[in-house]
Amino acid sequence: MSGIASRLAEVRGRIARAAERAGREPSSVRLVAVSKRQPAEAVREAWEAGQREFGENYAQELAHKAEALAALDGLRWHMIGHLQSNKARLVAPHVAAVHTIDSPSLARELGKRAATTGRTIDALVEVNVARDPAKSGCALDALEPVLAAIRAEPSLRLVGLMTMPPYTDDPDAARPFFAALRELRARHGGAAALPELSMGMSHDLEAAIAEGATIVRVGTAIFGERPR
Ligand SMILES: *Cc1c(COP(=O)(O)O)cnc(C)c1O
Repeated sequence: MSGIASRLAEVRGRIARAAERAGREPSSVRLVAVSKRQPAEAVREAWEAGQREFGENYAQELAHKAEALAALDGLRWHMIGHLQSNKARLVAPHVAAVHTIDSPSLARELGKRAATTGRTIDALVEVNVARDPAKSGCALDALEPVLAAIRAEPSLRLVGLMTMPPYTDDPDAARPFFAALRELRARHGGAAALPELSMGMSHDLEAAIAEGATIVRVGTAIFGERPR
């Protein structure tokens, strides 16, 4: 097994154990492998090990990798980094999902670009649950207009919420932020309206799954340290 294949197996094991501890089906948590700053070859290796969903942070890099790897069957790209409206046209032809919609204007622009390419894109709203001024994501009390703007776009399918808590070495310190996203969802229609909670990364995926994550975004635990 390659290094990437064995680390992928480890991460899948961590996800399954965390789900079981939370009394959940392991299949209720999807793994997005975050390949930002990793070469296309690393994505191919993960694909050979059965991984199909990949996350990228930069619009240009996502478009390049999607084009370079277009021959791989069943690849699904997730945009998980901050997206400027003027970059929506770069990602629209390639992405299965965008996790970082944080304003009505971005929702409208992405909806327009998705319609132009004849595609439907899964839409998640990034919420700044920590109220950290240095972080992107919409404010908790600004969520409703973003949800409404997504619902108004026929080429976007509203699927859920995403958050990225402040980094701490102690994964349990992130738990209140994950719980806050789950509680926010409960106030906006619950799991019926917003089935997906995208939260949890390499070091805190167990805490996120304990709080209801349905998508975890994992980079370094699969691909190793990112090249500078
Ligand atoms: C880089 C990144 C990840 C993955 O982080 P790791 O610590 O490498 O697992 C997840 N989500 C977002 C938004 C990221 O930018």
